[in-house]
Amino acid sequence: MKRSVLIFGMLLVIGAFLGNTVRAAEPVLMKKVIEVPNATKEKIFEKVRTWSETYVQSYSSDLKSGVVVANGEISYPAPTIDRIQYTILFKMKNTIQNNKDTVAFEDVMLKAPRSYLTESVGAAPPFIGGEVAPIKSKKDIAAANNVLNYVANNLGDNLMNKSASACPIEKCRECGLLATSPAEMKEHMKGHGGHQSAPKE
Ligand SMILES: [Zn+2]
Repeated sequence: MKRSVLIFGMLLVIGAFLGNTVRAAEPVLMKKVIEVPNATKEKIFEKVRTWSETYVQSYSSDLKSGVVVANGEISYPAPTIDRIQYTILFKMKNTIQNNKDTVAFEDVMLKAPRSYLTESVGAAPPFIGGEVAPIKSKKDIAAANNVLNYVANNLGDNLMNKSASACPIEKCRECGLLATSPAEMKEHMKGHGGHQSAPKE
């Protein structure tokens, strides 16, 4: 009797395990609540607006509802082999109430590089690239959650008046892309071209 119960229990555990692995990957659902001690809604709203002005490509804001929606793009987190020069597009919705900013990322998409491989010689037709697609694989979802958490931490440090963030970000002056390190930004700038010294005659 005891033995059959034990076996039944083991089957349940195995079933739950299989159920988990078969289930489709969860979509990107990065969400974070940033609480700023002693701050007012207006103060946080203004800081989120200033942060958006500094770091994203476009944003809209409405003080009455306390919502700031920022649209940004960030480098796919390194190291990676098969996602070099890919970027992640995101919509960051800030809902500010009292002394809290609830940050939720929506419409997170994976963008293929535009000019990747164009230098390769031979049979392949010109690579057009630049496709934007929903993030589906577990690996990409984990990478997106990771880098968006980093972005939210940067905003959090900013709202907390920290002079230097533990999660620094840089913005490309040409296209507004974000990068999490100088090395990543340097790699990105190669794609713009024209930043090397002028060719010698
Ligand atoms: Zn750029």
